[in-house]
Amino acid sequence: MNKIDHLGIAVADLTAASQRYQELGFAFHGSERVDEQGVTVAFFECGESHIELLEPTHDQSPIAKFLAKRGPGIHHLCVEVDDIEAALADYKSKGIQLINPEPVIGAGGCRVAFVHPRATEGVLLELKEKMK
Ligand code: ZN
Repeated sequence: MNKIDHLGIAVADLTAASQRYQELGFAFHGSERVDEQGVTVAFFECGESHIELLEPTHDQSPIAKFLAKRGPGIHHLCVEVDDIEAALADYKSKGIQLINPEPVIGAGGCRVAFVHPRATEGVLLELKEKMK
């Protein structure tokens, strides 16, 4: 584990939420649409980490389901790892429940994988491989 890469926050209105986070003092870092995850994201700087705001792009997006069930709020914690294949192999060998047994493409084209909240005391955990 290198560092907390970002904290993901589910929002219903990315434009309004982005304005609010800038009012709160977070510098805007960029935004993009990630079709693989059904979201549009905006990143804000927070020291060496980031805040990631996530707005669903369609009703079947995991973020749309999260918002319907729980409303806006903290959705996941993301940590950076050097080798995502090694981390997933280690977790599999320990029987840790994964949402993505293999890496998928996340924001910025990074390789990511999610660990089930049942395996982490209730927090959706995202592993993100360090850009090489
Ligand atoms: Zn994330």
